[in-house]
Amino acid sequence: MTPDALLAALARLVPAMQERAIALDADEAFPEHDIQALRELGALTAPLPSRLGGYGAGTEAEGCELLVGLLRSLGQGNLAVGRLFEAHVNALQLIVAYGNPMQIERAAADVRDGHLFGVWVTDPAEHALVLDAGSLHGSKGPCSGGGYVTRALVTMLTAAGTRMAVVAVDRMVGIEPMRGVLQGMRASCNAVVRFDGIALDVDAVIGGPGDYLREPHLSAGAWRTTAVTLGGLDALVTAAKNQLARRGHQGAPLQQDRFGRMLIAQETARLWTVAAAQCAEAGETSIADRVAYVNLARIAVETACLDAMRLAQRALGLAAFLRPNPIERLLRDLAVYLRQPAPDAVLTEAALHAFSA
Ligand SMILES: Cc1cc2nc3c(=O)[nH]c(=O)nc-3n(C[C@H](O)[C@H](O)[C@H](O)COP(=O)(O)OP(=O)(O)OC[C@H]3O[C@@H](n4cnc5c(N)ncnc54)[C@H](O)[C@@H]3O)c2cc1C
Repeated sequence: MTPDALLAALARLVPAMQERAIALDADEAFPEHDIQALRELGALTAPLPSRLGGYGAGTEAEGCELLVGLLRSLGQGNLAVGRLFEAHVNALQLIVAYGNPMQIERAAADVRDGHLFGVWVTDPAEHALVLDAGSLHGSKGPCSGGGYVTRALVTMLTAAGTRMAVVAVDRMVGIEPMRGVLQGMRASCNAVVRFDGIALDVDAVIGGPGDYLREPHLSAGAWRTTAVTLGGLDALVTAAKNQLARRGHQGAPLQQDRFGRMLIAQETARLWTVAAAQCAEAGETSIADRVAYVNLARIAVETACLDAMRLAQRALGLAAFLRPNPIERLLRDLAVYLRQPAPDAVLTEAALHAFSA
């Protein structure tokens, strides 16, 4: 299948994904059907470098356009599925960037066997994950897909600093699902994952101390999350348009004003996302320039989404807050997914970079 054919096939799945998203959210259920569909389409192997049978989506500059399309479509279908797929790409991208040839081959074989990867780097307030005398102790959380993802790239504290490892997640790992606590993104099935006493094979350790925190990978890859949120924004704008039209509000000047501003927010988010993806993946500018540009894109897309959410609420009124209106869920999922780490630092560091240029 060509990358264009893959994108077209995925686009055809979007309406059914949107339909399934309603029950998955209500039940806080893992989107197994959607992940299986991605497996069957070959989307899970798309991030592998072309020499390993993939399209380089996230691992090669040539795969950039495909990855933008995949992430955006999945976000449109179900933000939770988009989040899970983005983590899968992120894990493979880190393994390809920092792993040795044997580790890259093993990850590629795992993906071809159908494994879904996650990236679990956030430490809970207490008991951060540490590697001590060859064993893991402590927890990670929130971990998307906890209990469902079968390979996880984790960060852990070691005597030499922060290091990464790929863990084959099985039932020996303690999974504490965060059920009933998240307002949105419920189908991404977040959990706190305990690793107490799990022996870690030395072959599982990826890269050296501090590699996870190295730029540009740490920050520039954040464009992928903005691409997923852009898809969620697409879904919101389309749903708002349809509902306004059904009410016969096309001719109401203030509704036109609000919908026009939603379209501006959507296009702003699209322009920033595409430009940030190209900037990050082409690697033609300095690392500092790439990080600063993606940081600005993160905040621009966050702002665009928040603007559109406010406009949708005002345009549709209480209906936007009533289940099972899809807008009610989209607003919750977007609100939660927009909470990405350190937004103040991201903006102020980008501003400082511009002053120093
Ligand atoms: C749906 C979902 C799924 C997730 N899945 C995963 C996963 O699979 N794996 C994983 O590792 N993590 C995951 N996370 C966690 C995620 O990566 C982030 O850690 C989390 O979203 C950070 O959000 P926050 O708002 O708490 O950010 P924070 O960085 O805590 O920011 C909160 C506010 O505090 C400000 N702030 C931050 N630091 C300072 C400071 N030092 N001084 C002053 N102000 C400060 C920020 O600017 C912001 O205004 C997930 C999160 C969500 C929502």
